[in-house]
Amino acid sequence: KRAVDKASELSVRAALFEGTTAPEIAGYTALEAYRADGGYQTLDIVRSGALDAATIADKALEAGLRGLGGAGFPTGTKWKIVNDLPGPKYLTINGDEGEPGTFKDRYHLERDPHRLLEGALIAAHAIKAERIYLYMRDEYPAVLEILSREIAALRESGIITTIDIELRRGAGAYICGEESAMIESIEGKRGLPRHRPPFIAQVGLFGRPTLNHNVETLFWIRDIIEKGPEWFASHGRRGHKGFRSFSVSGRVKNPGVKFAPAGITMNELLNEFCGGMEDDHAFKGYLPGGASGGILPASLADEPLDFGTLDKHGCFIGSHAIVVFSDHDDMRDVALNLMRFFEHESCGQCTPCRSGTEKMVTLLEEKSWDENKIADLDAVMRSASICGLGQAAANPVASVLKFFPEEFGK
Ligand code: SF4
Repeated sequence: KRAVDKASELSVRAALFEGTTAPEIAGYTALEAYRADGGYQTLDIVRSGALDAATIADKALEAGLRGLGGAGFPTGTKWKIVNDLPGPKYLTINGDEGEPGTFKDRYHLERDPHRLLEGALIAAHAIKAERIYLYMRDEYPAVLEILSREIAALRESGIITTIDIELRRGAGAYICGEESAMIESIEGKRGLPRHRPPFIAQVGLFGRPTLNHNVETLFWIRDIIEKGPEWFASHGRRGHKGFRSFSVSGRVKNPGVKFAPAGITMNELLNEFCGGMEDDHAFKGYLPGGASGGILPASLADEPLDFGTLDKHGCFIGSHAIVVFSDHDDMRDVALNLMRFFEHESCGQCTPCRSGTEKMVTLLEEKSWDENKIADLDAVMRSASICGLGQAAANPVASVLKFFPEEFGK
């Protein structure tokens, strides 16, 4: 069934793109304008030897920069680990952005692609990477066109010297946003997550040490070096550090990408950045971290939104993809919809996830949910799946049972 679904999805996708011409590119900051604004001067400083990997890593740590693809691992610590390992090594950039509700990387790349490219060249030079692999979501044709043009412009201008940037297109699999599956895909294999340890920092692309970053993480490197770590750190609230790019969608007046302080609450984000709820909609709940990060009720909208702050509720912030629900939405339907997504996107490598997501969909389709069976299956998937997809797939279901008893007439 899954193979048939996938084949029909691919044929629909092929039909969509067949015969289309190059995508229309909206105005963005191209190389000349970026350089006129001081772009690539920070790279020159790094190349001159005035700043080494350890110093930049310390700045990233002081700024509080963390992996903004969802894991939140401290960026500077990752640089130090890979920098200390022997070459050859690689830099990979994860631009797959497949988490439902997440569109921040697309937003940045359609406006200011060189801020990422300069950050990548700085990182690669600092840790002495041989090559940069930029893995981009194929559903972003405008971004692919922009990056192809601008990487070519960097080669022509001589800014790309020994370390080249190779642009790779994903093929629509959600699981290829998982870093080890992405690496398998870059190697030309089926995108299956690897067992860990070893971690990809040690044994990554082509079996070599690999520094892997999300687009937005590298996007901030130039500013952190130029303006100083304290500039970035000072933007947080409640002791949290830095900016976050929240992708906000759902029942709000003004959805979109919102640059907001780390540690902002959902109520603040809703009222200060999104214009409040849509007319005739009462705030009921929200996904704090895309499909995998669970669901929180409106009564918990005063929690700071950042890495580690929502764990006590069985939720997480992930890639900061916020989807807002109202009294018009049935939370059981939301959980079922998300579980169908995971069933479809499971890579099928391990049984707890492959069969677990399918069986969970069957349980959620029942008029009356069997809470004991759901809890049993949830425990198996969580503890025995190889990667985060299977481990987190039941988060929305557990949230609905815990926070929305009224949906069950309780
Ligand atoms: Fe694949 Fe799911 Fe297992 Fe991850 S948990 S390896 S997605 S089957």
